Amino acid sequence: MIILHNKQTEKHNPSPDGEGSYRVKDFIETVSDEQIKDMMPLVETEINFTHSPRHKQKMKGACKSKCQVAEASLTKVSYDAMLTSVALAIMAADQNAFAITRPPGHHAIKERAQGLCFFNNIAIATSYLLRKGKRVCIVDIDGHHGNGTQSIFKKNENVLYCSIHQEYVYPYSSGLVDDIGSGRSFKKVINIPLKAGSGDDIFINSLEFLSQHIKKFAPDYIAISAGFDGYAKDTILELGYSKNGYYQAGKLLSSLSLPTFAVLEGGYHKEVRECVQSFVAGFSGDEFSFSDKFSTSSIECKNKNSFILKTLSGLLG
Ligand SMILES: [Zn+2]
Repeated sequence: MIILHNKQTEKHNPSPDGEGSYRVKDFIETVSDEQIKDMMPLVETEINFTHSPRHKQKMKGACKSKCQVAEASLTKVSYDAMLTSVALAIMAADQNAFAITRPPGHHAIKERAQGLCFFNNIAIATSYLLRKGKRVCIVDIDGHHGNGTQSIFKKNENVLYCSIHQEYVYPYSSGLVDDIGSGRSFKKVINIPLKAGSGDDIFINSLEFLSQHIKKFAPDYIAISAGFDGYAKDTILELGYSKNGYYQAGKLLSSLSLPTFAVLEGGYHKEVRECVQSFVAGFSGDEFSFSDKFSTSSIECKNKNSFILKTLSGLLG
C-alpha cells in the first residue's frame, strides 16, 4: 500500500498542536501539484455527489473570508487543503493507496461541517466507487464515531459502515451499539463502542468480529477511515492502542484480500506518522519496525467488549 501525500494539505492551520500541520509534515510528498491540478475537474464533480452545492459554496466563502467554521479557523489556503484531500482520497480509491488527507472528514454531513471536518473525504471516494457499480465496506478505526459518514450512506444498501470507537465521547449522540441502520441500510451499520482504557486486544478482537460480517456483505472494496487518536499516547481520547496494534489491524484488514484504500482521519500525537507507517507495514506484509508491545486491557474492558459483541450478534443475526 503506497502513501499519497501532497504538501498543500500542510498549509491549512499550521499550528503546532490540535489539528495542526505538524500531523502530516514529515510525510514525503508523493503526489505533485500538477497531478492534484489535473484531478480538480473530477474533484469538483465528485463533491456534488456527497455534499450540496450550497455547502460547497459555504466552505469556499468561509475560507475566503477567514471564518471560524465548526471547530476550526479557516483561511484561503484551507480550501486548497480541502480540495487536495478530496483529490488524494479519490486517487487512493483508484490506486489502493493510503491518502494523507487533512483536514479530516468523517464528521462532515451532507449540508454541514462538524468538528474539524468540512468535506467528507472517505464518503466522496466511496460514492465515486458506488457510481462505478461497486459495493463498499467502510471500516472506521478512528477513536471517534464517524457520524457524518454513517449519515451520508443511511439510504444506501451498497455500503456497509463499520466503526470501532470510544463510547460517550464526541459526537456524543451517535455510534450506539443498537444503531444498526434502518430502511435500506438495515443491518448495514455496525457500531462497536469501547470502554475507555480498551487496548489492542479489544481493538483486534472487534476487527475480527467485523471481518466475519464484512465477508457476508461481500464488498468489492474496503474503504478505511484511518484515524489514529485511539493511540495510547494521544490525550484526546482514552483508548490504549499501540503502534503494534495498528500493525496488526493493517495485517488483519489485508487478510480479507479485497481492493482496499485508506484516508487519514484524526490522530493528534506527534507520532501519528509512525502509527500510519505501522498500519501500512502490517497491511503490506512488511516488518514491524518499532518496539511497542501489543497492549492488553483490563477485565472490565474485556467484559464490556464481550457484552457488546454478543449484543451485536443478536441484533445482526
Ligand atoms: Zn477522531
